[in-house]
Parts: sequence; C-alpha cells; structure tokens
Amino acid sequence: MNKIMKKGQTGDLLTSRSYGERKAAIEAAVQEILFNVGEEPAREGLQRTPERVARMYDEILAGYSVDPVALVNDALFNVEYDEMVVVKDIEFFSMCEHHMLPFFGRANVAYVPSHKVIGLSKIPRIVEMFARRLQVQERMTRQIAELIEEVLEPQGVAVVIEASHLCSMMRGVKKEHARMVTSTMLGCFRKSDKTRNEFLHHLDSQNVSI
Ligand SMILES: [Zn+2]
Repeated sequence: MNKIMKKGQTGDLLTSRSYGERKAAIEAAVQEILFNVGEEPAREGLQRTPERVARMYDEILAGYSVDPVALVNDALFNVEYDEMVVVKDIEFFSMCEHHMLPFFGRANVAYVPSHKVIGLSKIPRIVEMFARRLQVQERMTRQIAELIEEVLEPQGVAVVIEASHLCSMMRGVKKEHARMVTSTMLGCFRKSDKTRNEFLHHLDSQNVSI
C-alpha cells in the first residue's frame, strides 16, 4: 500500500503551514485579484468574498487531504467472482489546472475482478477524491484506473470520462473541445476487444463515443 499512500500524499505546503495560515494566504491572494481586475474590494458585495472563496476551496479541492488507503481499506472483499463490474454515470465536478475553472461531467468505471472486489459506493468516492483537485481530465482518468488496479489487482480496469470544460466554453475558443471524452483501458480491457466492447456497449445508452 506504500505506493498508494504516496499518490495521495498532500503537498509540502499543506503539511508545513497551519490551516489558518493557508486560509489567510488564499484570502490575501483573492483580495489582490479583485483589486487587479479593476474591482473595489471594499464594496459591500465583495467584502467577504476572499473569505468565501478560501472556504469554498476547502470543499472543491478537498481531494488533496483524502487518504486513499483509509478510503478503500475497509471496503475490500475477497470473493470468487470474475464477471465485469460496471459503475456508470458518476457525476463529478473538478477544476482545470490550467485556468482554475470547473470542468464537470460523468465518469464510467468498470473492472473484472480476479480475487477482490470493492464496495460499490467506494468507486464514486475514488472518482471524487481525484476530481476535487486541480486536474487535467486525461490524468484524472488514468489516476482513477491506476488506483483501482493497485488496490484490487483485477484482470482489468476501464475508465471513460466525459466532461464539459468551462475554460473552453466561457472563452469562446476551441468550442469543439469544450466537451471531451477520455479513456484509460488496462489489463483485459486493453488486450481483449470483446471485453472492451462489452464495456463500451454499456455506455452506448448515453451516447459516449470514443
Ligand atoms: Zn482550462
């Protein structure tokens, strides 16, 4: 589990600064942004905005402080089952690391167990842990697949994510890339057309095309 622990490790700043210090620093930075975009930070509607933004980041970037070992450990079960497990339409909200604007959509996860399964409610929690960070969709897709591969040692795992990116939609550039589909296929999903097609067939109903 050491490798998993490393993946979920928080940044150095998170451990070397107190919560209060970090919150104050974010508030000061937001104050600077407000001033430098031409706003009047002291006006009534903006007075508490730096504090609100700092508190909001606690929630929407909470994934940095989730311990993946604790998240999955109590929900692993040894079973003799080797049929595909599919969890579809997991709604998520993330933040693009290039612009710090939201991207959001649905994740679809499948695996074929070899000797272990995970409680079904944990798959959306894994998606959420990786979504609630500054992300790029491609990396998030891979991280979800690799964590499941590591904890379950399955015959294979597949993740397909479809998301809309506000940084493209709002800025009016590359509108055709505003909605993006990414996928990671590992093990039997990569090797076997039949397994991969079985999973993609599950997704057909929602018109995901990869
Ligand atoms: Zn972006």
